[in-house]
Amino acid sequence: MLLAGHWRRHRGDRERGIPEHCRCGEKAIIKTSGTAKNPGRLFYCCPNGSEEDKFHLFTWTDERIVEDVEDLKSVACELKTEISSIRDELDAFEKQLQRLNIRNDLTRNHGGCCSIL
Ligand SMILES: [Zn+2]
Repeated sequence: MLLAGHWRRHRGDRERGIPEHCRCGEKAIIKTSGTAKNPGRLFYCCPNGSEEDKFHLFTWTDERIVEDVEDLKSVACELKTEISSIRDELDAFEKQLQRLNIRNDLTRNHGGCCSIL
């Protein structure tokens, strides 16, 4: 399959796109930043994490969404290519089927001819 391995690309030790879990196994949650530098900015984090504890998940939601959109774009592009090649194959099959039907008709007509004799 063309798509295999493209859904989740890894960069470094983490997955691209929206994270579902922290490396500790806890489900990722969304929070709003209250810092002066990033006021109101959304981020994914681990309920077990804190500002001091860097082991747990912390990542900006907007950056991850951009990654997901980029990945989905490339998946959409691959799907388009796949669909057009499937269409080509289908066209070829239909033409082959038509040829077979024509040949079948000829054989049947020929058979009818012979039975008269
Ligand atoms: Zn965690």
